[in-house]
Amino acid sequence: MNIALIAHDQKKSELVQFVQAYQFIFAKHTLFATGTTGLRIQEATGLHVTRYQSGPFGGDQEIGAMIAKNQMDVIFFFRDPLTAQPHEPDVSALIRLCDVYSVPLATNMGTAEMLIRGLEEGLLDWRNIVREKDTDNNGK
Ligand code: PGA
Repeated sequence: MNIALIAHDQKKSELVQFVQAYQFIFAKHTLFATGTTGLRIQEATGLHVTRYQSGPFGGDQEIGAMIAKNQMDVIFFFRDPLTAQPHEPDVSALIRLCDVYSVPLATNMGTAEMLIRGLEEGLLDWRNIVREKDTDNNGK
């Protein structure tokens, strides 16, 4: 599965700890992240992460483009609800696209726990069918 990891500054440590705790699961998947979040995760875990731009410089939109192509299967986006973000429109657009394409999205640790355990148990295997179908359509 292709997994996106994004955290606002006040939530980065939380996401890093989460990835460390479930590293044995994340290691089986392909990881993508916004710039600074990805760097923090790489440094803390040694996992390979494909890094996009930092969020305020377009990273959210780059991940959004993958969602729009049905190439992103799970999103962990630890938002900071208490701090104004300069790229708030990008944040909203990313969440909106998850709803458009029915991509599983966790915006806090509580949901993230459920999502990662569900992923490990195969509850998201339907994403393989969606992704393959979309690839077929693009080929026509
Ligand atoms: P960053 O971007 O990982 O580069 O900090 C995340 C964000 O703030 O949207």
